[in-house]
Amino acid sequence: MMCRNAIRRLTEIANTLSRDSGLISRSSLYYASNPQDIGLIRHEYDLLKRKGFDVQYWNRDDVKAKFPFSKEAAIYTRGDAEVNPYRLGHHLLQDAGDQGLRIYENSEVKETRYTHNDVTVMTDQGSVSAKHVIWATGYSTQEWKPDYQVDLLNTYAIMTEPVHDLSSWYERALIWETDRPYLYFRTTPDRRIMAGGLDEPLPPSGKPEEYAEPRSQRLLNEIHKLFPTMTDVKMACSWAGVFASTKDGIPLIGRHPQYPHSYFIEVYGGNGMVYSMIAADLLAETIAGREPEELKWFSLRRPIDLNFT
Ligand SMILES: Cc1cc2nc3c(=O)[nH]c(=O)nc-3n(C[C@H](O)[C@H](O)[C@H](O)COP(=O)(O)OP(=O)(O)OC[C@H]3O[C@@H](n4cnc5c(N)ncnc54)[C@H](O)[C@@H]3O)c2cc1C
Repeated sequence: MMCRNAIRRLTEIANTLSRDSGLISRSSLYYASNPQDIGLIRHEYDLLKRKGFDVQYWNRDDVKAKFPFSKEAAIYTRGDAEVNPYRLGHHLLQDAGDQGLRIYENSEVKETRYTHNDVTVMTDQGSVSAKHVIWATGYSTQEWKPDYQVDLLNTYAIMTEPVHDLSSWYERALIWETDRPYLYFRTTPDRRIMAGGLDEPLPPSGKPEEYAEPRSQRLLNEIHKLFPTMTDVKMACSWAGVFASTKDGIPLIGRHPQYPHSYFIEVYGGNGMVYSMIAADLLAETIAGREPEELKWFSLRRPIDLNFT
């Protein structure tokens, strides 16, 4: 429910910005990668339906009627969205800057001092003292505050050149699957295809890009397998890097006893942008003195409950 509301909030915010962030409402197709996962899809569909989500259960014939591939079962969900996160991030900052937010880019925090009343973060250019600090430093937070709930993996993504005919891609839906490691696919407004996934442990060399070439090729092949009629799909660029997730699938948001006056936003997992929206609202309320009950669900000190996954 919180995720669904967060997508609505993100959409509202994107629509109020002075520049277009290209946020597009999309449906998503979540398919069973193999017949053993039909039960999982059915269970997930029943849960979502009972909670009032706009979902459809698709059998093999339903999938085949909409896409050039067939899968034994799938959930088709309305109310998801796609966005260019780089553009959205920059537009948010530009508008916030126009309203008086002071932004210091390229200012790495090198040291932090905590006193009884406040906290001071120091960079090579200067320092900032504040009553509260929110650490939204992404996966690199794990380098100085490792969390026992977090797994770090290597992940891969490719983007294709623009594709002439995307008409066989029903509603340009976001696509992903039950298999682990998973694959995911989406299109972009300029008619490219993005594919990603194949998460695996970091290569022994420690270099995320070590297997980038074969993994990128595999991602391209997977696009060809799903959409064989698209004959002009060519890779434009590829990427390999670290991806963090939590063992229970829930992000880490809130305080940590060793860091006074600090809050953390560690929105690890595949829907981190949605979690970021949740985190922003929860922490804004908390700092304003109205700490929501829900904040404890995301506690950095919670035990690992694998029933959540
Ligand atoms: C391949 C891939 C695919 C993904 N797909 C999706 C998706 O489809 N949907 C979705 O919702 N989410 C997705 N995510 C997750 C999403 O990208 C993240 O959840 C989101 O970027 C987190 O935002 P953030 O601002 O918390 O952290 P980040 O975007 O990681 O930003 C952290 C920032 O902190 C800066 N920083 C770090 N240390 C310091 C320091 N000491 N001083 C100053 N600055 C510092 C970094 O330079 C960086 O700019 C994906 C992630 C990956 C890797």
